[in-house]
Amino acid sequence: MKQDTGQDFRSNPKIIQHYALLQEIGVFSHIDQLNKEIKSCKNLLAGAVDIFNRTTIDEILEATVWKISDQFLPSFISFLWKPFQNKEEITLKSYRNYKLCDIGVTVGSIEPFIPFFRKFPKPIAFEMFSYQLKDSVKSVDLAPLEKIDPEILIPIMGPSGLYGIVMIGRKMLEEGYNNEELYFLEQLMGFVAQAIQNHLHYEYSVRDVKTGLFNHGYFMTRLSEELARTKREEEGASLMVMDVDKFKNFNDSYGHLAGDRVLESIAHMIKQAVRTGDVPSRFGGEEFTVLLPKTPRQTAWMVAERIRTSIEAMKVPWEPPLPQVTISIGVISFDRGTNAGAEEIISHADEALYQSKENGRNRTTVWGAGLLFRIQRKSRVA
Ligand code: GH3
Ligand code: MG
Ligand code: MG
Repeated sequence: MKQDTGQDFRSNPKIIQHYALLQEIGVFSHIDQLNKEIKSCKNLLAGAVDIFNRTTIDEILEATVWKISDQFLPSFISFLWKPFQNKEEITLKSYRNYKLCDIGVTVGSIEPFIPFFRKFPKPIAFEMFSYQLKDSVKSVDLAPLEKIDPEILIPIMGPSGLYGIVMIGRKMLEEGYNNEELYFLEQLMGFVAQAIQNHLHYEYSVRDVKTGLFNHGYFMTRLSEELARTKREEEGASLMVMDVDKFKNFNDSYGHLAGDRVLESIAHMIKQAVRTGDVPSRFGGEEFTVLLPKTPRQTAWMVAERIRTSIEAMKVPWEPPLPQVTISIGVISFDRGTNAGAEEIISHADEALYQSKENGRNRTTVWGAGLLFRIQRKSRVA
């Protein structure tokens, strides 16, 4: 259906006939105002679609920065959020002139702001926020935010409370934000908050909370997908399974909290050693896996050894200092010719891991590689 434009409407003979009256009672200015509002709604909707189409937090933030900067140029935009619901850890990302920048401020926690934003979940001028907060919560430390010096704060609220805060600096060219602009920011940030929440919820559903690695369910899904892919394509893939050596003894001697810290440090080492696209996961307990798509056996073995030696040399932050921890690894590679399902692949990798344990721990064994493994396997089965 063809839409009436303002011009078509005004050239209608009946309108022309009553033009003076319509103008006098304000019909035209009302229509102009409505058109303006429609334009800004369309603009907002386009922004929302753009933001919802992004798949990573960085992309969401970038799209938001561009959308805001389309309307006016703030001196900076900072995003502060909790990447893990169960940890206090905070991430701060700031943009100046569309670019990521370091503003040299660290914010330790957003916990003290939770009660305030639970009561007033709306954008607020920083001046008003600090005035109210200082008045109600005497002990709150606003120094880091004062250093950032935002003009407006916008909370990112979700079902579990405050997920983060967006901070917007003063405008570069003009004075203060007018009501229309604040309304635009409030609406846009509603979408941004939703997009960030969706992303965080997705992350929480595929991540292990203790280590931040992928969880068992996600790993199994990806392994099945990778098996299916290798049936269709030329390139094979590899899987490594890892188990911490004598970890029960470690827990018994140094306690479960120290043990947990070790698991976190191991996860960190694994993350550092793999590429984007690899799938480092916590299989369960003190067992980890890494799925390496499109990776042949030799490369997988090298990655496994890199992980093993880095863990052997790892220093875990703990008082008093902890002894070195080691892991044993089993590696298996599969390709188009492999006739095994996900469970069988894992159990073969487990066999190789078991071999590493039997041979003295702190080593890597590749499943089916060479005569040595087969002989050792035979003697164990016998
Ligand atoms: P091996 O070298 O043969 O693997 O010996 P192990 O002692 O590591 O093997 P076992 O399977 O007997 O023990 C695994 C231990 O891992 C038992 C459990 O206390 C510990 N563990 C599993 N999950 C966690 C965890 O989340 N935190 C801590 N601290 N320990 C865990
Ligand atoms: Mg184990
Ligand atoms: Mg173990």
